[in-house]
Amino acid sequence: MVAAFNGLGGGAAVCISFEEISGFTDCPLPVILGCAIGAITFSGSIIAFCKLQGLISKTIKKTNFLLTSNILFFLLTIASGIYFHIDNSFINIFTLAIISSIWGIVIVMPIGGADMPIVISVLNSFSGWASVAIGFSQQNILMITVGTIIGISGSILAIIMTKSMNRSIKDIFFIKKSSLKNNIFMENIATTGSPQDAAFIMQNAQKVIIVPGFGMAAASAQHALKTMGDLLQKKFGVNVKYAIHPVAGRMPGHMNVLLAEANVNYNDVYQLEDINREFSTADVAYVIGANDITNPEAKNNPLSPLYGMPILEVAAAKTVFFVKRSLNTGYSGAENPLFFAPNTYMLYGDAKKVTEEIDKYLEQSA
Ligand code: NDP
Repeated sequence: MVAAFNGLGGGAAVCISFEEISGFTDCPLPVILGCAIGAITFSGSIIAFCKLQGLISKTIKKTNFLLTSNILFFLLTIASGIYFHIDNSFINIFTLAIISSIWGIVIVMPIGGADMPIVISVLNSFSGWASVAIGFSQQNILMITVGTIIGISGSILAIIMTKSMNRSIKDIFFIKKSSLKNNIFMENIATTGSPQDAAFIMQNAQKVIIVPGFGMAAASAQHALKTMGDLLQKKFGVNVKYAIHPVAGRMPGHMNVLLAEANVNYNDVYQLEDINREFSTADVAYVIGANDITNPEAKNNPLSPLYGMPILEVAAAKTVFFVKRSLNTGYSGAENPLFFAPNTYMLYGDAKKVTEEIDKYLEQSA
């Protein structure tokens, strides 16, 4: 939804720029910028939306062809902007919009996995800057003010995400090549656990760290999870903490919002850098609907689409439970070798149902 809304903002800027050229006589720079940034935002956001909805492949390899096209359309966008500056005709602004739209597609097409949240933040910021440019052309103070707020907040979010993901904007958009590994891990055998085993081990633990991910959101499991945390803390005296990765889920702050909705105590919720050292002292890491954010390939495999992203070090816990429906990959498409680690137990099923089962056993035991 966020991607689609960004796209609408960009598309609106392009439409206004078309309408604008009929009357102006002044410098057309704001119209050129509004049209170009708006068109990039519009087409880039449509591609991001399709990737997030699984309508097109989440990750397309950054081939030399795509990287060359990226630079080519960057230059063509500048050239068509200059040409429109010389000759303010409708056909020229239309050409600028088409070329910028193609550039937006070429930019976002090869991006996926851990880079997607950063792309969304950048597009969000672009929709604001497009509105600022059009606001200048229309001399509309409200558009300039609101656009600036969106542009700056989107830029700050993009910088924060880039830093916490150990990435650089240049690498994401222009350089870094990514590739997917084949299903080499699928030949291994994962150990299956049951909700009853999980309840027994956790009620006898001293420290349990809960790691929520996209699957918790998809299953709306946050309330069952809060019940589990409360039972462990209050009935069995277990030290329970929640670990949040900056890109867990599908939007910045996704997990924080859901845990807050379930009234999880904010003092029990920790960010990655504050909790990572604690996994080695935890008896259990309860990973619920999370995958990419725990994948050690992000540290070990330079070919992984996740490479360079910091992860939650769940493997350091004595026992790791993964609650998910299958051994399928997460958003990035990267296999997770942790499923086959000797201290990992897979709890197959819907995140909410499995956690409710655990709650039932915890309520029944003395
Ligand atoms: P992942 O997408 O890596 O993994 C989620 C897992 O949840 C899947 O492997 C899936 O496995 C499981 N799942 C799905 N539905 C259910 C369900 N009903 N019950 C139980 N399990 C379920 O999510 P993470 O949170 O670990 O990582 C986030 C990923 O999303 C990262 O790659 C990030 O870059 C990307 N992303 C994040 C954005 C953000 O702003 N936060 C924006 C865009 C992308 P199975 O099918 O086996 O059940």
